[in-house]
Amino acid sequence: MNISLPHAGIVLLIGPSNSGKSTLLKTQIDGGDIKQSEVISSDAFRVFVSDQEFMDWRGMPKDEAGYAKDEYRAISKEAFAMMDAFIEARCRLNKLSIIDATNLQPDDRKRYLHIAKKHHVPVIAVILDVSEAELLKRDAGREHPRGKRRIKQQYQTFKREKRFIKKEGYKAVYTVDSTEDLHIRRQTNPL
Ligand code: ATP
Repeated sequence: MNISLPHAGIVLLIGPSNSGKSTLLKTQIDGGDIKQSEVISSDAFRVFVSDQEFMDWRGMPKDEAGYAKDEYRAISKEAFAMMDAFIEARCRLNKLSIIDATNLQPDDRKRYLHIAKKHHVPVIAVILDVSEAELLKRDAGREHPRGKRRIKQQYQTFKREKRFIKKEGYKAVYTVDSTEDLHIRRQTNPL
């Protein structure tokens, strides 16, 4: 499959944890057409705002679980606000931003579509469609597993949202079920 990147705008990767978003981008940065500075990662922004690499709030005692979960939400809220400002600045400068986050919530996707529209740049969606069994298998092999419950929840959301994505207003929607033979190429700047 060939994916054609616009010279400016937003690329939304859409897929649950373990669908391989970061891995795919890394291969394209190392040997392809993507620059590291074009990748806007929610995990990286959580670290920027909180020094928190990964927060595992699963299995905590009930009283503490509430606190940890709230803290995770607070960190995510700040991280996403920073990402929005960053992406908007890049759109203003006619740059490409590739968003490495699950993008499973319709409101998140709508926000990026709105930012792009405001600055007259396109948005393309790249859906990473991996089976639940494979997501769970990959999770078990991770240094910090996200946990079965979280993966299953994300997969249900993904299944629900998948059918709406094509109608949300992207310039192109690519559905990737295997990263083998995937070629991501940048369009040349028309200017
Ligand atoms: P998250 O949203 O949690 O950051 P992600 O979608 O970015 O997840 P990655 O971080 O790329 O996923 O990968 C998660 C795990 O799955 C890693 O252990 C990685 O090695 C493995 N993985 C990623 N892509 C593949 C693949 N195509 N085949 C097999 N394993 C893979």
